[in-house]
Amino acid sequence: MKKNIYVTQPVLPDFDDFTALLKDLWESKQLTNNGKFHQELESEMARFLGVPHLSLFANGTVALIVGLQALRITGEVITTPYSFVATTHSLHWNGIRPVFCDIREEDCNINPEKIEALITPKTTAILPVHVYGNPCDTKKIQEIADTYGLKVIYDAAHAFGVEQGGASILNSGDIAVLSFHATKTFNTFEGGAIVTKDAKLKKRIDFLKNFGFADEVTVVAPGINGKMSEVSAIMGLLQLGIFEENRLKRQKVAAQYDEAFKGTEGIRLLDNRPDVKGNYSYYPVFIDENLFGKGRDDVYHALRREGIFARRYFYPLISRFPTYRGLDSAAPDKLPVATKVADEVLCLPIYDQLQPEDIRRIIRIVKGA
Ligand SMILES: *Cc1c(COP(=O)(O)O)cnc(C)c1O
Repeated sequence: MKKNIYVTQPVLPDFDDFTALLKDLWESKQLTNNGKFHQELESEMARFLGVPHLSLFANGTVALIVGLQALRITGEVITTPYSFVATTHSLHWNGIRPVFCDIREEDCNINPEKIEALITPKTTAILPVHVYGNPCDTKKIQEIADTYGLKVIYDAAHAFGVEQGGASILNSGDIAVLSFHATKTFNTFEGGAIVTKDAKLKKRIDFLKNFGFADEVTVVAPGINGKMSEVSAIMGLLQLGIFEENRLKRQKVAAQYDEAFKGTEGIRLLDNRPDVKGNYSYYPVFIDENLFGKGRDDVYHALRREGIFARRYFYPLISRFPTYRGLDSAAPDKLPVATKVADEVLCLPIYDQLQPEDIRRIIRIVKGA
């Protein structure tokens, strides 16, 4: 009986290294509230990523919600329907109206050419996603934001460690929000972070993630509890040490798929951009039913029958869910590219331990579906 293969598997540090640090934690008895491991991870991670300031969070969703609060975003925000639901939910939890903008086929990111037409007097910000860790057109998006006086909040949940032109992609926008969920390339069981260039903004974010406490007796804002625990911070410190090795192993998996699918009629791949140092967090293929002969769902089910659980990230579009489908901007005819891509995409398994023979088996099933 073959083992099931899932779309990803968490990368884990050495267990003895983890328990050694847990022993320190037991002795210290400080389990949370900006403990020593939390402080160490904030500074080590900022250095590792090449960003000025960073605030750790319990998860990426609460980090998104707090980030929008910290920047006092209200009214309407232009965002992408092609993402994980938490992107739009973070707007909903702030009483903000999402306005969906179509994406570009070549990178699945928000199409900057389509943003301006969606701006109204109520628009206060743009919330793009670096989908699969591929950088958005940050320059064009910033130009639009500067012209109209909008803030830019990047959902960078997929973009840990991604660089463009030798610099971290996380320095784009007013803030960038990371997720360290167990399914992400860098994980702290559950976790997240906000990256910012502004020290004062970090201070406000830190108040907001701790109930609004500025000191023992002063509550400066209606904050929430978004703090990362010390156990997660320990995991994060050990993950920093294995990230580059993990990135290289994933790159090898991606290269094996690239080689096999290159030139296959009906299967489109994303470009490997020479200016981008990626993290190989996902491996999406786009299946054109007319050209390939079989549809995306046929391939998805053929893999499932063999115990291989590829995922249709991101289908359905966020704009199809009951909470959002009634919005004017959610109409599928206004989102033709996102609608098409969501029907064609399949993310194949990719993780450090995925073996060449399993990759060959996956390739065989996809091609023979
Ligand atoms: C994973 C993810 C989130 C949410 O992060 P959590 O840490 O699970 O709360 C947000 N946006 C995107 C695009 C994601 O993939």
